[in-house]
Amino acid sequence: MSSNDKSPVYVYRGDAIARYGFGDDHPFGPDRHEVFHAELEEAQLGDAIAYAAPRRATVDEIALFHSAEYIDFVSRMSAEGRGYLDGGDTPAFPGVFDSASDVVGTTLAAVDAVMTGEASQAFVPIAGLHHAGRGHAAGFCVFNDCGVAAEYLRERHGLSRIAYVDIDAHHGDGVFYGFEEDPDLVFADIHEDGRFLYPGTGAASETGRGRAIGTKLNVPLPPGAGDAEFNEVWPAVLDYLDAAEPEFFIMQCGADSLEGDPITHLRFSEAAHARASADLRELADRHCAGRLVATGGGGYNRHNLARAWTRVVESLAA
Ligand SMILES: [Zn+2]
Repeated sequence: MSSNDKSPVYVYRGDAIARYGFGDDHPFGPDRHEVFHAELEEAQLGDAIAYAAPRRATVDEIALFHSAEYIDFVSRMSAEGRGYLDGGDTPAFPGVFDSASDVVGTTLAAVDAVMTGEASQAFVPIAGLHHAGRGHAAGFCVFNDCGVAAEYLRERHGLSRIAYVDIDAHHGDGVFYGFEEDPDLVFADIHEDGRFLYPGTGAASETGRGRAIGTKLNVPLPPGAGDAEFNEVWPAVLDYLDAAEPEFFIMQCGADSLEGDPITHLRFSEAAHARASADLRELADRHCAGRLVATGGGGYNRHNLARAWTRVVESLAA
């Protein structure tokens, strides 16, 4: 499986990220981490992968993307440990601040491992919290690790053109609007049409604002769209990314776009996730020495998320 000249793919594992969840009865429950790792172990990828441990982000790191007011708000709500961080999707459980900081820090650890070459690519299962905006929580997402990672790559690693690619069923609105006027944040997002699914955004006409108009790609698909529809639109996504010549790829591979998810209506199979990650790795090889970090994102059918994310790791480690 592993080739000798390739560093391992780091896969992050540990209680710190497993704990990010909203209780056993919530779709984003703490068991998601375990079911994925059980499936991954069965795939027996040997030394093509290596396990790595979570770390906690500092407040300064979180502030690379989020506003100081919002960070203070989460801190206060975390101490109180009740109520919601948003209109009613994202509960403020005791310690939510630290837990959300662990997710961000782990994605940053993955970025560092890839930038130093210690890892060829990396996968963080409990991450890809793409709905959190610069100043608000939304849709089970407290801090937006992908948004922080993009700013971190610029601030700490001196890169400028970062690609964010999202195949979660939901539009990555926190990332999109967080960088809407930024032409150097290369953005491609395939999702269920916002007229039928939360958060309601991501129309094809949304291509960026101001000096970023025409630089971003939103690809809404109708409810019920499956692999055939994915395969039809995917080459245009690859062409767009290829032309954009990114210096780093951040992938959000939410498994809620697979058939059988309890809260969405797309019907991809895990083949979509396998293809997307294999193709993005190839693009990353072409443009930026393979530098890619994949995050798990959504996915509420446990069987689906375990299999889809395992396919992603296999594609990166092949
Ligand atoms: Zn989702």
